[in-house]
Amino acid sequence: MLKNLIMTAEIIDGKFLAHKVKEKVSKAVSTLSKENIVPGLATIIVGTDAASSIYVKNKGKSANEVGIKSFQYALPEDIVEEDLLELIEKLNQNNDVDGILVQLPLPKHINSDLVIDSIDPSKDVDGFNILNAGSLFIGRDGVIPCTPLGCLLMLRSINIDLKGKHAVIIGRSNIVGKPMAQLLLREDCTITTVHSKTKNIVKIVKDADIIIAAVGIPNFVNSSWIKKGAIAIDVGINRLKIDGKNKLVGDIKFEEAKEVTSYITPVPGGVGPMTIACLLMNTVLQCVKRNNMDQPSSLRNLF
Ligand code: NAP
Repeated sequence: MLKNLIMTAEIIDGKFLAHKVKEKVSKAVSTLSKENIVPGLATIIVGTDAASSIYVKNKGKSANEVGIKSFQYALPEDIVEEDLLELIEKLNQNNDVDGILVQLPLPKHINSDLVIDSIDPSKDVDGFNILNAGSLFIGRDGVIPCTPLGCLLMLRSINIDLKGKHAVIIGRSNIVGKPMAQLLLREDCTITTVHSKTKNIVKIVKDADIIIAAVGIPNFVNSSWIKKGAIAIDVGINRLKIDGKNKLVGDIKFEEAKEVTSYITPVPGGVGPMTIACLLMNTVLQCVKRNNMDQPSSLRNLF
């Protein structure tokens, strides 16, 4: 039941939950090591975008922390598509690699769809490959994209019954909005997806029991859009300069939204760390499947 008293929201602590997921991943990696199996994650970044470089570095560092072997490839901005596809093919064939992640966005001269679909579906850890994306759409087992999976685990962590809840997802990207909608549909939520062409967006968001904001506009949602007691999951990561200092803010005005919501995720320290934890989990799950092993018990029924 949603809280209906006027009170400050409980913060869903993404850092803490990500730590718990990583502990479970680490345990699964230890179990695999008894069979002399070490999961491997290859990350590929093209160009020198500062934010993307930090994300990729953090992913590699987090992989090493849980015992996953990390292979990092930093490629020049002007690399030709053919060379990138050749690297992916080599990684597809490399038995030490269980997961391949290509950091998006790619430069405009490279066809992202072609690149993503060239990753062996059994090594796709983002769930963006057309086969895995299709599996999620029709309810078959497959890899679930890390950010929506992180959001779902955060919702599960607060032990609410998702059945019949109205979830409004702001944003319809292939990497967040669309898979998020499919995932919550699987949880028996009633889904509305809104986007830049949606009319009466405030009215729709105001009806939400659960708001997932994945817009990429700082402080887009304010408290007047939010029904009292709703749950707010803020996916947005926006960089602002405030009083000369760089600051990360989400898509939801956190300070005022926490006065009307029952639960809310902060930025930073919310969905971001959970995305990385889910990437590590997906890598181990792909490793397990590729070795025809059972899913490790530590990764069953997370939250
Ligand atoms: P995206 O591909 O740019 O998609 C943004 C979505 O927001 C689009 O569907 C767009 O609608 C919609 N939108 C834009 N302006 C709008 C408006 N005025 N009203 C309603 N909808 C509007 O972005 P994304 O990749 O999904 O990422 C969204 C945010 O999440 C970004 O801040 C990104 O940095 C962050 N992110 C965070 C994580 C994490 O780990 N925490 C992971 C991925 C992304 P149209 O489709 O109509 O254009």
